[in-house]
Amino acid sequence: MGNLVYDFLQLVYPRNCTACSKALQKEEHVLCTTCFADLPWFSLGEMERNPAYLVLSSLYDLSIFYAMLRYADQNVSQRMIQSLKYKDDPQVGFLLGQLLGRRCKNKIAKDAVLLAIPLHSTKEKIRGYNQSEEIVKGMQYECLSWQITTTVRRKVNTVTQTKKSRAERWENVADIFEIQDMSELQAKHVVIVDDVITTGSTILSMIKCIMLANPKSIGVVTAASPSKI
Ligand SMILES: [Zn+2]
Repeated sequence: MGNLVYDFLQLVYPRNCTACSKALQKEEHVLCTTCFADLPWFSLGEMERNPAYLVLSSLYDLSIFYAMLRYADQNVSQRMIQSLKYKDDPQVGFLLGQLLGRRCKNKIAKDAVLLAIPLHSTKEKIRGYNQSEEIVKGMQYECLSWQITTTVRRKVNTVTQTKKSRAERWENVADIFEIQDMSELQAKHVVIVDDVITTGSTILSMIKCIMLANPKSIGVVTAASPSKI
């Protein structure tokens, strides 16, 4: 595409960086080069201190726990997640999934089944998509042998987590998921995929639920996570 055509399209359909809103160059996608360079990657040492990891790994033997980006006030990672959740921008999820897939490729079984944390159906209808499913699609693009399942559903519509105390949050998420078809998870290497993991309470509830299907292993990956809560 010539620059003139690009400049014209940018006038009609402006493409802007999801994190800083600057107009994107022709070769840039979702994020501008500056914001891409600012992505707050977690180091391995930080992973071992991740609050959700500490809780989950004390209870279960996970095949993998991986949090990719540090989620902090106004950083690139938080802006991306906000665009993904509230600005009707599923492309952000696909990009996060590609980055996640590239980083986890060698740590996840080739025949793994990816499972996005499901939204309640009314929430999904309002948003138009499930943000974690968009991440899953991007991951699979990086490793085509991974399967995707949507066999777990959310039973009840939980009240916004942030308005509750920490103890209430844990109670609130007990038994919120149900499996439609056990055979999609049975004897499989299941990897749970989320956009942001904070306390890990939702993930814990998901693990409890999918244990019922007797999977071969369970792993957890997330695009972002705060380093402390
Ligand atoms: Zn930018």
